[in-house]
Amino acid sequence: MSSEQIRRDLQDQLAAHQVRNQGIASSPAHAFSAPARVNLIGEHTDYTGGFVLPLAIGFRTIAVVTPRSDDQAVLYSSNFNETAQYDLRSLALPPRGHWSDYPIGVAWGLQQQGIRLTGFNLSIDGNVPLGSGLSSSASIEVATAMALLDHSRSSLTGEQIALLCQKIENVYVGSPCGIMDQFVITNAIDKHALMLDCRSLSFDHLPLATDARIVICNSMVKHSIADGEYGDRRGEVERGQEILRQRNPAIQLLRDATIADLEAARTEMSEASYRRCKHIITENDRVIQTREALTAGDERRFGQLMFTAHASMRDDFAASCEEIDALVEIARTLPGCLGARITGGGFGGCTVNLVDAAHAEEFALNLKAKYREQYGIDAQTYVCEAVDGALARATQ
Ligand code: ADP
Ligand code: MG
Repeated sequence: MSSEQIRRDLQDQLAAHQVRNQGIASSPAHAFSAPARVNLIGEHTDYTGGFVLPLAIGFRTIAVVTPRSDDQAVLYSSNFNETAQYDLRSLALPPRGHWSDYPIGVAWGLQQQGIRLTGFNLSIDGNVPLGSGLSSSASIEVATAMALLDHSRSSLTGEQIALLCQKIENVYVGSPCGIMDQFVITNAIDKHALMLDCRSLSFDHLPLATDARIVICNSMVKHSIADGEYGDRRGEVERGQEILRQRNPAIQLLRDATIADLEAARTEMSEASYRRCKHIITENDRVIQTREALTAGDERRFGQLMFTAHASMRDDFAASCEEIDALVEIARTLPGCLGARITGGGFGGCTVNLVDAAHAEEFALNLKAKYREQYGIDAQTYVCEAVDGALARATQ
């Protein structure tokens, strides 16, 4: 699907949404939106204070908020065609295990910060593929946060919004994600990727070359990030990090460790912890090299770093799968392909490809065709542009 088609789809959805929205909302309605994201490089580095390099992409979740005269939160998602109702005077854990956990979690999180919420209707619609690794979860959180901040006449900085939404996903929904998704979805600007230092939360907007395209391919092999494997990997990483920390107090987070530190501690940790930590230490280095490559306009070097990063996710982090590996290998053979790798938490989801602009559409078609030949699965491909995050859009 081209970005033009995505834009048209979203416009159609917005028009349909306005019609449906009249069912639960009376005017005045305020609309906010948040994009999806894809990570170019820096996978599983965020929760150990490392570097990531994502961009916001042109799918959006829209949140339309209208006030109510009572203390109820009435939530509607047109993606599920379902309404959920909560009493704002008694929001509390545990979550229901339902899509409404995400938006009501935001209301709960705002209340926890002392922000008073009066009744509201919140109507949500979006074209972010759900559960595909493009972070529809952070998109719905950030869109909701923007809407509810407006509703409560409060404001937070981009960093505070990202931290609030991460907390909701961790504590309220119960999914152990890092800060990357919420941060880029809030703070991105168009035509740029965002390099984020996940420890200090300082960031740089890095310009993307105009003669290369980002092509995302959804393998259609589904994963749920809240499931066991993500938590297992995270546990293995954190146990390795703890051993390194005990050996050398200067290592607070894995981000502070070198490969030499890891090798010295190898016999003290499980093989799994060693390999997971090795991926993260080398990946942080690759993100720094990618910043250099992007700054120098060296797309070939960037592409090579993506291939290496994929091998590291596959071999050391053990978070790839057969279909994703096949997509990367097919991509490598196609004209115009500069780099390809798995993106997102792992175990399925999407690949991200760096492709010469002139070949991008043809690349997407060929990748789909060859994948279908091999697996009988119809992949989804998207030729993407880097778009504005929720904050840039709201302040325009
Ligand atoms: P990902 O973030 O990769 O898309 P997750 O499993 O983390 O996958 O989050 C997907 C979940 O987020 C959905 O199953 C749903 O509960 C919630 N969600 C995302 N977007 C919407 C939406 N537009 N309407 C309702 N729920 C949504
Ligand atoms: Mg998610």
